[in-house]
Amino acid sequence: MADRASNEAAKQAKDADAAAKRAGRAATEELPDVGLFWRWAGQATRPVAGWILIALGAIAIVVGYLGVSREALVAKQIPYLVSGGIGGMVLVAVGAFFLGTEDLRRQLLRLDRIEEQVDELHAVLLSRRDAPTRGGNGASGSTVALAGGSTYHRSSCQMVTGKHGVEEVNARAISRRNLEPCGICEPQPVKAG
Ligand SMILES: [Zn+2]
Repeated sequence: MADRASNEAAKQAKDADAAAKRAGRAATEELPDVGLFWRWAGQATRPVAGWILIALGAIAIVVGYLGVSREALVAKQIPYLVSGGIGGMVLVAVGAFFLGTEDLRRQLLRLDRIEEQVDELHAVLLSRRDAPTRGGNGASGSTVALAGGSTYHRSSCQMVTGKHGVEEVNARAISRRNLEPCGICEPQPVKAG
């Protein structure tokens, strides 16, 4: 009796544990969305922030210049020079960096897209039934030739599929008939003799 009660308690504890784990997992699953939002926000405001920094830098330089030109004493010009001149240039540099990296990032994204498109195109071309097969299915693929032809091919080559008078040729037949390997399907070279 006591045994059963403790079993029940243990089971309940396990259920609660599982529920807590589920809740924790749900919470962590929501995290990437938040990260995505902030990344998007950062990317969207980055060029704006760059231009604002450059504008602030320009204003600081102009104010610094006006301050310096109004002060006759060199000692009193130094604060204007430091905060206006140097501070302004730092702001402009940081702003330009923001804009520069934003531009670079966009170029890289475009490159990625082009690379994807090339990959897709490549996959489509290779999946065509009449695509030339290069390398790969090596020595086991049978070689064929057209009757009276001067070249030999892989049996899957588009130069011979569906043509009349296609016959399988072995190494001996190839060397006897002096057949050259096809330049399109590039069959395995066959040793003469
Ligand atoms: Zn061929």
